[in-house]
Amino acid sequence: MSNQSRYNAGATNQRGMIMANSMSRRSLLWHAVQVSVGGALASAVTRNAHAAECVDLKAMDQGELSTRQGLHWTAMSPNPDQPCMKCGFFTPSTEGCGNCGIFNAPTAAMGHCDSWSAKS
Ligand code: SF4
Repeated sequence: MSNQSRYNAGATNQRGMIMANSMSRRSLLWHAVQVSVGGALASAVTRNAHAAECVDLKAMDQGELSTRQGLHWTAMSPNPDQPCMKCGFFTPSTEGCGNCGIFNAPTAAMGHCDSWSAKS
């Protein structure tokens, strides 16, 4: 093997290592993004599952369901600054759950409805 081909082989190897390191970094970053997104989805699913544990819509009579629908109640507030737990009508019960003074019934701490009013 000539000196020139040894040099090229070394350069190729060195470049190859650089590419391998670059690919490895890219793979690590991609893996980190996947873990992060997966964690966020799992967290959202857990929060929604917990909200479902607070409020059993199937057990409610039509009147209570109509009231909730009329006030656009939701188990997950569309406005992060206005969850039930920050509402003046909310009384906490178990973790993630509470009672609503308007509905006189359970609600989720992260829920929301049109009657939201800041705690004083
Ligand atoms: S009034 Fe609405 S926002 Fe306030 S605790 Fe009841 S459901 Fe939640």
